Amino acid sequence: MTNLSPVVAERSVDETTRLAHIGRKAEITRGYVEGTPVRALCGKVTVPTRDPERLPDCPECRRLFGMRLDRMLHPGGRPR
Ligand SMILES: [Zn+2]
Repeated sequence: MTNLSPVVAERSVDETTRLAHIGRKAEITRGYVEGTPVRALCGKVTVPTRDPERLPDCPECRRLFGMRLDRMLHPGGRPR
């Protein structure tokens, strides 16, 4: 049986670059509550502070997230 885990990701705002980075949902949720830094997919460490809705996605996070999604949806499939 296929076990497709839900996409466990959330976006976190980096105030210096004003980009929305993508990271683990659980870590970002905790960051909002406790103010702990979160490591995004691209390696950037940010403290999630506010709603990233109006900011553009970090292109590197976007790219890495797309690759992960791809592997999740097509395990062992051909690389794109
Ligand atoms: Zn990023």
